[in-house]
Amino acid sequence: MKLKLAIQKSGRLHEDSMKLLQECGIDISNGVNKLKTEAVNFPLEVFFLRDDDIPQYVEDAVADIGIVGENVVYEKNKSVEVVDMLGFARCRLSLAVARGDHYEDVQFLEGKRIATSYPSLVRQFLEKNHINAEIHEISGSVEIAPGIGLSDAICDLVSSGSTLLTNGLKEVETILQSQAILIRHRKFNSEQQRLLDKLLFRIRAVKKAGNNKYVLLNAPNAKLKEIIGLLPGMKSPTVLPLAEEGWSSVHSVLSEDEFWDKIEQLKAAGAQGILVVPIEKMVI
Ligand code: ATP
Ligand code: ZN
Repeated sequence: MKLKLAIQKSGRLHEDSMKLLQECGIDISNGVNKLKTEAVNFPLEVFFLRDDDIPQYVEDAVADIGIVGENVVYEKNKSVEVVDMLGFARCRLSLAVARGDHYEDVQFLEGKRIATSYPSLVRQFLEKNHINAEIHEISGSVEIAPGIGLSDAICDLVSSGSTLLTNGLKEVETILQSQAILIRHRKFNSEQQRLLDKLLFRIRAVKKAGNNKYVLLNAPNAKLKEIIGLLPGMKSPTVLPLAEEGWSSVHSVLSEDEFWDKIEQLKAAGAQGILVVPIEKMVI
């Protein structure tokens, strides 16, 4: 038995989905250009699809699991379960209007025309805010709609905002924050669940490692207690004597979000020769 995974064939999710599999030690290098391929060292079959189709394939159990953006999952509103957040393809679904427009609040949208590829999410947003507006569903190049007179506003995915800028638009409301997620269907049997757990174990080890750094530093023994107090470590830091009398080498793991603060504190406490090394996998 093999677990069937759907990922995007090409586009913004493709590379990172492939990279995640590779970091999980799953080799699918034998057939990336096909519609589907099999991993050589894990009971996994991979389907390459358009991202919009992935929720339907998973709901129907044609694929067991899928990697797709939250934006697509919530727009399609299929009956699937979210297994895990994957942390890549971060973007937001936002409303934008012409830069010269005087936008104060959502009331601006009353009676206006909004172009979007996300009619369902936009409709929900408008209903929640008691706004009546016309939704024009278009499938691509939404950002040019106001410029050609098709709409007064748009709702589209934004990451840096540069596309909006070059089209003379400004972002005024965010209606959804999105990232890539792993979804599954609701008819899992115990063997499928066992395989998914095996895969999830690897995915979590990869994600955990990505958020952490391995730190090595030299500390004068007189300051050792203070320096160790600053470090969390997996259990507690490793301390090894240096060849030079009165000094120790301290090894520990620091998470990305506290990293810079801690490094400053460690230096101030007398740590020297601080080395920071990426971690490939981390199993706790
Ligand atoms: P397909 O041919 O598979 O239908 P597509 O053109 O619909 O592809 P892409 O542009 O490749 O889709 O985007 C795929 C997903 O990547 C989006 O649904 C979203 O989750 C995420 N994404 C889109 N735009 C951005 C962005 N600007 N920054 C980061 N992630 C994004
Ligand atoms: Zn798509």
